[in-house]
Amino acid sequence: MLDNRQIARIRDIGIMAHIDAGKTTTTERILYYTGITHRIGEVHDGAAVMDYMEQEQERGITITAAATTCSWREHRINIIDTPGHVDFTLEVERSLRVLDGAVAVFDAVAGVEPQSETVWRQADRYGVPRVAFVNKMDRIGATLERTVDMLRDDLGARPLVAQLPIGSEGEFEGVVDLLEMRALRFTGELGAEIDARPLDAGELHERAVAARAALVEAVAEVDDEVMEMFLADESADIPADVLRAAMRRATVANAAVVVLCGSSLRNKGVQPLLDAIVDYLPSPLDLPPVEATRVADGETVPRRPAPTDPFLALAFKVVSDPHRGHLVFFRVYSGSLQLKQALTNVPRRRKEKVQKLLQIHANKTQEIQEVSVGSIAAAVGLKFTQTGDTLIRADDKELVLLAGMTIPDPVIFQAVEARSASEQSALDEALASLVREDPSLSVREDPESGQMLLGGQGELHLEIMVERLRREFGVEAKVGRPQVAYRETLTGPMRHALEYDREVGGKRQYAKVELALAPRPRGEGNAFCAQLPPERAEAFSGELLQAVEEGVRDALTRGPILGYPVDDVEVRLVDAAWLDGDSSPASFRAAASMAVMQAMEQAKDAGAARLLEPHMLVEVVVPQDFTGAVVSDLTGRRGRVLGMEPFGAGAQAGDGSHGTTQVVRAQVPLAKMVGYATSLRSATQGRASYSMRLLQHEEVPADVQENIVTSMRGY
Ligand code: GDP
Ligand code: MG
Repeated sequence: MLDNRQIARIRDIGIMAHIDAGKTTTTERILYYTGITHRIGEVHDGAAVMDYMEQEQERGITITAAATTCSWREHRINIIDTPGHVDFTLEVERSLRVLDGAVAVFDAVAGVEPQSETVWRQADRYGVPRVAFVNKMDRIGATLERTVDMLRDDLGARPLVAQLPIGSEGEFEGVVDLLEMRALRFTGELGAEIDARPLDAGELHERAVAARAALVEAVAEVDDEVMEMFLADESADIPADVLRAAMRRATVANAAVVVLCGSSLRNKGVQPLLDAIVDYLPSPLDLPPVEATRVADGETVPRRPAPTDPFLALAFKVVSDPHRGHLVFFRVYSGSLQLKQALTNVPRRRKEKVQKLLQIHANKTQEIQEVSVGSIAAAVGLKFTQTGDTLIRADDKELVLLAGMTIPDPVIFQAVEARSASEQSALDEALASLVREDPSLSVREDPESGQMLLGGQGELHLEIMVERLRREFGVEAKVGRPQVAYRETLTGPMRHALEYDREVGGKRQYAKVELALAPRPRGEGNAFCAQLPPERAEAFSGELLQAVEEGVRDALTRGPILGYPVDDVEVRLVDAAWLDGDSSPASFRAAASMAVMQAMEQAKDAGAARLLEPHMLVEVVVPQDFTGAVVSDLTGRRGRVLGMEPFGAGAQAGDGSHGTTQVVRAQVPLAKMVGYATSLRSATQGRASYSMRLLQHEEVPADVQENIVTSMRGY
């Protein structure tokens, strides 16, 4: 079991970046520099390394992508993959959920780009402490200041600039460490050796003195200890250790962001970045206890990052591996687990046995016997666990749930079909695998056509999944046209009584119910309650009431218009009659279900049933010159523009540098977003980008509904 000293040496981090900022290059360098120490210790391990590499090549994808462990200065750094794209919020959320800190990589020429802003704000929401790495200092036009300004002005961060570049562009040589006032140059194979020396007197030294003073002032603003020293004597030389400790406090408290620079491609500045991960980013002990919900009573129970507390972990990624089956990546928040101890998957109430626990390193996987607070590892052998599930020990009687990632309902679906009957089972298995990995996907059978329907978060999401079926699972599927996932609802109150009286297997089955149906506010979901007259409320048993509710809920899964699920409807049981001996839960379930279906049919005939369609929040980042074109295109898609503002929260309109980019926010029905990427590209000469997510469901306009019904029913 790890002790606190060891846990304090763990860093669970992510590396986030706009695409092309250099995340992959930086990660590779990190793995290389940290792998050197690794390899020196374990030269005899050559066979294992080779074996692993072969498997990796065979698969053509890397499982290291989910989480990689490396070590630096006797600290264990677990790097959790964060997606570079923001199309699928679930992906971003699930990684932010499990990491304690992050490195944000920026391109020193481009600075803060739209996508990096989106991810930055998401990290703000989750309160993830960060250090910033301004990469590509060797590029023409690279400056450190520009990104620092944008961090401050556009992202509202408080930058603590801890380095100065030595030389610029093609002459970029290394960095000045402002804490120690040393020049760091990187030599040897792939920059693995560091030449550190005190600064000679001269221009660089002068600039460094000024930059250090600015750093001390900035730290003083967020740290009382440094503030006191600073106030006592403004010219005092604040020791590096004191500054470093203060910068750590400020980072962990999310009050400031340490900024470093370098060039990963040129092998410059990556080791100091590793130092910064160790020095500034939090260990699991630095963070407040996680909040879990006790299943028994819904109370919040804090779970401390203590190895002796009950074991508590979150599965954040499931990867299917042809050699090992499913690998479930998880993060331990509390307690520890031995390999031989069984688990309970809390949301699924299933017992799970672990066959192997794996730690994934840069170049090999290692079997481990135990995991503890702060561990990021993969379990082999779990049968039921999906992304987002809470795991505890099977012998632990107190069931608790971690606030999982909210898994959005699918907004779009597509029929998928195997090319031949012989491929059917391969397709079924592959689809089941994909859903375990990504629960924002869904697979269900259309009860009418018998077709398999794959549901997801957007056209692109489905496209990628169909591509993965082909590439990773070798299953070629025939796919239908993507269709919007509609829902159905009521627009006015309905009341309906139904008497059920049948002979089933020679026995009379009797039940009578009267239901009152009413619309609920948008997004509130369905609700059921009983409001029986007092004389009958007493006598109506809880068992029968539960049967009524089951019948109601069952009937609401298929609406009267096109058979989509019914949403935002309240059903009240206002009266009931029964015959002792002839009434049963089964008769009430059937009566309630039929009553709801008939009421909904009547609502449809009276024009009081409506289709609901998903409306998306679409955010387009576009140069000013093209905003007109973007807005008119969105309006043409039944879109409503919600707002428009200069890109970057603090951007000064008209300051010339970046105030000329606009963010347009609009609410648009998903049905009208088909082919949007292409049309945006041509309307803006490829200079705009967009993202979208579900906002809410809204009523389909009457004329549009008519068209949908006609085209789906074919009459
Ligand atoms: P990612 O999309 O964030 O993973 O970025 P990559 O690491 O794939 O890098 C994108 C491109 O930038 C590649 O062509 C890299 O070779 C290049 N690149 C990465 N780091 C640097 C750097 O420090 N300097 C320069 N000039 N190019 C770099
Ligand atoms: Mg990359």
